[in-house]
Amino acid sequence: MKVTPSDDGTYFVESSRKEKHYVVDPKEPSCSCPHFTVTMKKKFGWCKHIRAVKDFAEGRDEGNYQKIVDFVREKGSVELLELERLFNKEAVDDLICQSLLKEARGIVHLRR
Ligand SMILES: [Zn+2]
Repeated sequence: MKVTPSDDGTYFVESSRKEKHYVVDPKEPSCSCPHFTVTMKKKFGWCKHIRAVKDFAEGRDEGNYQKIVDFVREKGSVELLELERLFNKEAVDDLICQSLLKEARGIVHLRR
């Protein structure tokens, strides 16, 4: 899902079918999608668009993951501490948990 920040602190999130954009306010949280306004708000207080905005704000979005993987691919091996300094620690952790990156003794490689 494509997430675009706007100036007032809200975000535009592209719908899965890509013909619509929803407005998410992560502070409320609220989303303009019908699923959220009808069901999810009362039951859970979130929807997948709010989830996507939170992931984006934490640097845990696909674009950032790709940047990290590309960086490691280019370097061959990178110190974990350097990677966590340059990118987002949670995103690096996610990639290691998903086995897309491999960490051994503080050095990160691409998974072969
Ligand atoms: Zn939504």
